[in-house]
Amino acid sequence: MDTFDSYQLCALCPRDCKVDRTKDSLGFCGESATCRVSFIGPHFGEEPSFTGSRGSGTIFFSGCSSQCFFCQNYQISIQHDGRTITPAELLTEVQVLLLKGVHNLNFVTPDHFWPHILTLCRALREEGIKVPRVFNCSGYQKPEKVEDYAREMDIFLPDFKFAEPELAKMCMGDARYPEIAVKALREMVKLKGFLEPWDVTGRRTAVRGVLVRHLVLPGQVEDSLKVLKILHHEFGPGLPLSVMSQFRPVPGCFQKKLKRALDPEEYYQVLKLVEKLGFEKVYTQEFGKETDFLPDFKNSEDPFPGNRQRNQTKDRGRQTADSNISKNSKSRV
Ligand code: SF4
Repeated sequence: MDTFDSYQLCALCPRDCKVDRTKDSLGFCGESATCRVSFIGPHFGEEPSFTGSRGSGTIFFSGCSSQCFFCQNYQISIQHDGRTITPAELLTEVQVLLLKGVHNLNFVTPDHFWPHILTLCRALREEGIKVPRVFNCSGYQKPEKVEDYAREMDIFLPDFKFAEPELAKMCMGDARYPEIAVKALREMVKLKGFLEPWDVTGRRTAVRGVLVRHLVLPGQVEDSLKVLKILHHEFGPGLPLSVMSQFRPVPGCFQKKLKRALDPEEYYQVLKLVEKLGFEKVYTQEFGKETDFLPDFKNSEDPFPGNRQRNQTKDRGRQTADSNISKNSKSRV
């Protein structure tokens, strides 16, 4: 069980930095033992299973153990935008968030601040608050820690980013990502099953289970196809998926690779395999609309343009229910 002492020899994620985050040392995630958040508020850009009609109660933590250079949330994950928050303040802000009627608490990039989240979850339990909790993560989680997470969380929302070790090495500096992600995902599915209920209209929001996200990267279709085959082989066609097209080059890309947006043809190639493999529960993104949801965390009041647009046109981001493949827009990568 992770207490605040865990920060003193930090091994909360696969990086195993073993640094003392309570002193001046920072590990790969770049965050000390002082919790920092960038945004706490309702977010309407997640899949309808989480957004529903009243929004997902997101808590975006600063820093990230993955450090993918193309991260669409780079302002908080790489540039560490955010503010410090005490455990008591975090509890208060989450209570205020819940008063807004959000469907769930959505912990975005939670692993490197897990001791704080654990403390918060216990406080919420003492108050009898039972709203579903979402562990919204990179897929780069220690498999042996998933059971701890599952005691507090109802839903796992992991990415599965890369199938090829070389691509993982190039993007986040750890070739072990595919192997780690598969093991972690096996645990998540074993402990929570597939996402339920499955309702693309968002009228019945999710209360439990696993949905896997995959962001298709420009020039990396082959890797995406391999991701789908791995997931199908491991979990079968019933595994709920969200296949995302929203990639946009961010400042870190211009010194490296992935310097362009995704081509529609690349995305459709991936969707073709989704169909061919017979995946039954799939969210896709409407191509070209995703910029509405590219976040700007410099706007700490509301980083999501899509949220503001939604207030003007209430039907933004609605799903088509006439197919297993549905449209959505969301921001987290
Ligand atoms: S949470 Fe941060 S400091 Fe701890 S092991 Fe992971 S990257 Fe290193």
